[in-house]
Amino acid sequence: MIKIPKGTKDVLPSNSAKWHLVEENIKKLAKKYALNEIRTPIFEHTELFLRGVGDTTDIVNKEMYTFLDKADRSITLKPEGTACVARSFIENGLDSAGVMPVKMYYETPVFRYENPQSGRLREHHQFGVEIYGSASAYTDAEVISIAKDMLESMQVANVKLYINSIGCADCRKKYNEALRTYLANSLDSMCPQCKERFDKNPLRILDCKEDKCKLVTKSAPRILDYLCGDCKDHFDKLKHTLDLMNILYTVKADIVRGLDYYTGTVFEFVAEDVGLTVCGGGRYNGLLEQIGGKPTPAVGFGMGIERLLQVANADLIDSATPNVPTIYFAPMQEYYDKAISLTAMLREAGISADTDHIGRSLKAQMKYAGKLGVRFVGILGEDELKQDAVSIKDMQIGETQLVKIADLINYIEKKVN
Ligand code: ATP
Ligand code: MG
Repeated sequence: MIKIPKGTKDVLPSNSAKWHLVEENIKKLAKKYALNEIRTPIFEHTELFLRGVGDTTDIVNKEMYTFLDKADRSITLKPEGTACVARSFIENGLDSAGVMPVKMYYETPVFRYENPQSGRLREHHQFGVEIYGSASAYTDAEVISIAKDMLESMQVANVKLYINSIGCADCRKKYNEALRTYLANSLDSMCPQCKERFDKNPLRILDCKEDKCKLVTKSAPRILDYLCGDCKDHFDKLKHTLDLMNILYTVKADIVRGLDYYTGTVFEFVAEDVGLTVCGGGRYNGLLEQIGGKPTPAVGFGMGIERLLQVANADLIDSATPNVPTIYFAPMQEYYDKAISLTAMLREAGISADTDHIGRSLKAQMKYAGKLGVRFVGILGEDELKQDAVSIKDMQIGETQLVKIADLINYIEKKVN
């Protein structure tokens, strides 16, 4: 038997309504915050991620699905959304000064060759927001408030917002020096990748998931103590704006985020009860320039939808149920034609209706309708049709009533509302 690839999941018909609930909330949010959707291809030229995500990240180092196409081009399945949005933004000339800021969102599959474990898939989905063209801390706060609003709409319990600033290139230069000095004597006890990061980008060592590296970085110097005046100012303004918005936060100095492109603000939302990071984001003022665009300030986040569903309120999630017909016509064998035309009539009136497709006995049809959980079964037999009527069984209360076909639409509409 052919099985699903490791680290991937099907969304089954019985479960897709839960995804639709998330998607409806995304759409509501987009209206409220005036965000417009951007859709980019599933694959891009590998170079985009080498330049846009950075070669000291887990993603580029070990997680990308990269292959040569038939014309020997190196292609990579999207390992994150931001670089793709940035590429499209530049390529489509959305960066003309007069229209900024541009407020965008996306929902996309993301592919990462990871070790599948709880909360870690090889194909997952992200809801993301990107606001380009504003360097203001107000925009950072707005992006954070959008993420928070989304988590609230899914009633995620006990989520905590952690914020940090990793400064600009200048702050980071000074900080990296301090960090190197601090780490120099411990190099031997760190993982091979961190040894490499030590030269290329020591800040990334703070994001390493290996216990031995975590141990070493436990009392490392804090980037917040190395911020320049402007970066410190920006971070203070962010905190002030979050206060204005009544958004609680905790400053956490070891949040550096997994990607190389961040500058200044970084943040994460963690569902504390399960210890899952559901959302991560920040500012990346250098990204657009790095992949060939004009210097453009940018801020955004990515939220894992599978993880969101994992931590969302269970009752809310369970309230999203599959589509079931409101009325199911159960005809005796000789009245199939009537059932088909009544089904069509109700559908035309905008009522969800269905009838037997496979020639079951009346008893079997009733059983099937019960299993589906339909509200009304319309029984079509000789007695009913003689009177131009249908016996409507309300499955919720178990009562049956004879309803004239001419009154049927009215009857169902009244009952349902
Ligand atoms: P981590 O440090 O846990 O590896 P990350 O820094 O790689 O996270 P991001 O690239 O910021 O994560 O992705 C944004 C969000 O997407 C995460 O907060 C998480 O909710 C989700 N996510 C990331 N990787 C996976 C995965 N492999 N499977 C499921 N969800 C994921
Ligand atoms: Mg990761």
